[in-house]
Amino acid sequence: MISFLDLKKINAPYENLFQEKLKLVLDNSWYILGNEVKTFESSFADYCGTKFCIGVGNGFDALVLIFKGYIELGKLQKGDEVIVPSNTYIASILAVLQADLVPVLVEPNLETYNINPDLILEKITFKTKAVLAVHLYGQLAEMKKINEIANQNDLLVIEDAAQAHGANLDENKKSGNLSNAAAFSFYPGKNLGALGDGGAITTNDSELAKVLFSLRNYGSEKKYYNEYIGVNSRLDELQAAFLNVKLPNLDQDNNNRIVIAKRYLSEIKNDKIILPFWDFSNNHVFHLFVIRTENRDQLQQYLLENRIQTVIHYPVAPHKQKAFSNRNNLSYPITEKIHNEILSLPISPVMSMEEVDFVIEILNKYRIEFY
Ligand SMILES: *Cc1c(COP(=O)(O)O)cnc(C)c1O
Repeated sequence: MISFLDLKKINAPYENLFQEKLKLVLDNSWYILGNEVKTFESSFADYCGTKFCIGVGNGFDALVLIFKGYIELGKLQKGDEVIVPSNTYIASILAVLQADLVPVLVEPNLETYNINPDLILEKITFKTKAVLAVHLYGQLAEMKKINEIANQNDLLVIEDAAQAHGANLDENKKSGNLSNAAAFSFYPGKNLGALGDGGAITTNDSELAKVLFSLRNYGSEKKYYNEYIGVNSRLDELQAAFLNVKLPNLDQDNNNRIVIAKRYLSEIKNDKIILPFWDFSNNHVFHLFVIRTENRDQLQQYLLENRIQTVIHYPVAPHKQKAFSNRNNLSYPITEKIHNEILSLPISPVMSMEEVDFVIEILNKYRIEFY
């Protein structure tokens, strides 16, 4: 079986270094916000090219805390509207709601699956105060256009970079450094994955950073003195230690993904399958390789019969989820079409070229008439 994502194989090469780190943390016996977290924060800020990185508990909290930070700074107020893509992973939308803000859904571009900047303008009202740009599947959203619209309309821009660690705009401006503040997740399956939950915020805004270092730790900078109504969402010391081991390999891992994506793009030849759009710039780190086909469930079944595991990201559009019953009757036709037709192929830094050969061969043999 070609597994969709072999996490065991991804983490196996680091096992000895992980063990050493565990011993180091045990020896130091500093378990919360110690040297490993500090080191990771400064390395990841350097990697992204930002002035600050704040380690937090997970990607969702990273998003929520950015919003809460801007509320503390008076740049956002409860009830303000935030533009968010209608086909994102639901965490982006839940984070807006968690901060008592109002998500306004905007349809994506059918080619890139990222928010369509041309549709943002018509959704801007006097209550709109921010755009949450999601770099879905690892490909940067159209940040130049989004930042331009935001400048003209006095909006904050926040990146949900949970799927796009290391993606570049132009030559060397990375995800996490393309907006006012960005949220990252280190969930095990992400391009930079921990051995549990983890997250971070990157920003160049020193006022925001100061608030965030405090908000993630009960609103306290000095122990037992609380300036804000904060939360407990600290990046775990051990997870930070494991991330310190893995970060130096992130670019190589992303390159391995890109090599596979290039092969899929040039070698999959089947008129029933729509391949993802990519301009071959450094703007994509292929967290996922998402194809589209009219008979998606049939194709998924066919691949499974050929021992190729695939996943759907995501099977139900956010506005169609039970949790959003008040939005179930709204219509986002592009989003709905995407959710009905997409399928994610196996792609990972540890996939072998023989496995890639096999996926391509089986896809090229696929005919709808088989069924
Ligand atoms: C993974 C993910 C998140 C949430 O990250 P967690 O660490 O699981 O909380 C948010 N947004 C997107 C787009 C994601 O893919």
